[in-house]
Amino acid sequence: MKTIGLLGGMSWESTQSYYQAINRGVKARLGGLHSAKICLYSVDFAEIETLQHQGDWDATAVILADAAKAVERGGADLLLICTNTMHKVAPQIAAQLSISLLHIADATAAQLQAAGISKVGLLGTRFTMEQDFYKGRLTEQFGIEVLVPDEQERGEVHRVIYDELCRGEIKPESRQRYLNIIDSLHRQGAQAVILGCTEIALLVQQSHTSVPLFDTTAIHAEAAVAAALAE
Ligand code: GLU
Repeated sequence: MKTIGLLGGMSWESTQSYYQAINRGVKARLGGLHSAKICLYSVDFAEIETLQHQGDWDATAVILADAAKAVERGGADLLLICTNTMHKVAPQIAAQLSISLLHIADATAAQLQAAGISKVGLLGTRFTMEQDFYKGRLTEQFGIEVLVPDEQERGEVHRVIYDELCRGEIKPESRQRYLNIIDSLHRQGAQAVILGCTEIALLVQQSHTSVPLFDTTAIHAEAAVAAALAE
């Protein structure tokens, strides 16, 4: 079994989900007392969040690349960045590693393609919904058309992520707001919706809606388990 490297803490609420999903995945495949080999570096999210909102992505890349190198030195055979948003600086991080980076958008695109989905809604931070590093990758590399909520809805989705979910607050009124936005994307033609922020599944699960959901945390974790156990 390979050792899975995790760059976590963004936020730690979702890193817990990764830790649990990866261990459950290994247990499901190997049984008994088997558990995943994991090397985790968890950053202080307050530092990252401040730099994000200042637009200083280069500074976030320096912090995350240093952390990723520590994970590699710790014995990891592959690396996951446990947030969609920070894949904005994935190229800068990957350039400093000799182990491979398992990109969250690639793992998600593989699942969408397997399900025959070519037009999808995307929920995430404003950075993920509005910039090209994520949507563009889905469209250019995988031919998947991406719909995002309108300006006001994007603001609300973003606010709930930073003011509630990353602080461990799960509110029924925010869940209802998200479900309304998911319905609206579906009415506009999205065959499914990507939960493109690693905390969203703490708020909205498949049991809440008939619109197919693609949870990036679960997908990314499962891809890591498959890679770790591959021959
Ligand atoms: N975990 C979130 C994501 O998947 C948001 C926190 C962050 O900005 O990294 O995008």
